[in-house]
Amino acid sequence: MRRPIVAGNWKMNLTAKEASLLIENLLSGLKENTETGLMEIVVCPAFTALQTVAEKTKDTEIVLGAQNMHWERSGAYTGEVSPAMLVDLGCKYVIIGHSERRQYFAETDEVVNKKVKAALASNLGPIMCVGESLEERESDLTEKVIREQLLGGLKGIQSEDFENVVVAYEPVWAIGSGKAATAEDAEKVALLIRNILRELAGEVSERVRIQYGGSVKASNIGSFMAQPNIDGALVGGASLEGKGFAELIGNAK
Ligand code: PEP
Repeated sequence: MRRPIVAGNWKMNLTAKEASLLIENLLSGLKENTETGLMEIVVCPAFTALQTVAEKTKDTEIVLGAQNMHWERSGAYTGEVSPAMLVDLGCKYVIIGHSERRQYFAETDEVVNKKVKAALASNLGPIMCVGESLEERESDLTEKVIREQLLGGLKGIQSEDFENVVVAYEPVWAIGSGKAATAEDAEKVALLIRNILRELAGEVSERVRIQYGGSVKASNIGSFMAQPNIDGALVGGASLEGKGFAELIGNAK
């Protein structure tokens, strides 16, 4: 049985003060929605709000994640943040290889692979993002792209470590566009992902959690969660308002 996981990616939004307020609203919303049950709830603030959010979520059901990190433990990498620094702040997860990082910061599968390995070595759960662009989908390249990203990003990872990886399937065309994939299309790719994971690591693939991401909201989360190979969601825009995110989480049960 895979524990469902819903993660909010706040991207480059919210000051520490605004993040603090969001957590207050999220917690009170979750109380009203009770019965979040087994669901794992993660928020991924900007680096500057991690400390504040860590304090606000202490002893609550909300778990902390970061949006990115460097793969080295320390050193001359101006502007970067290391896995050890994230662990020190209480992070349990880190998003790796988000399409915005691939697109705007030239992150390759090789870089993603270094980061995934570094996260696992530091006991951080990597939420590794994969997904095709619209052009790739229209050229029938979805399977090829997903396979390449998985093989590249997970190269050299031991089979027993796979269950600590969360794979987020995020079709690039669905992110922030308001045009989510259909649940059936998302499930097709989630099944493809699980089959590729099985080729790479065998039976442990059954324990890897696969999220869908791309214009998920309170009104459509239920259709994704009903799919056999989708175990949660990575949520951008709809995680930026506490009560609304609580409602989305309530609908994900
Ligand atoms: C994301 O940032 O990972 C994302 C899926 O964004 P949105 O939910 O806004 O499409």
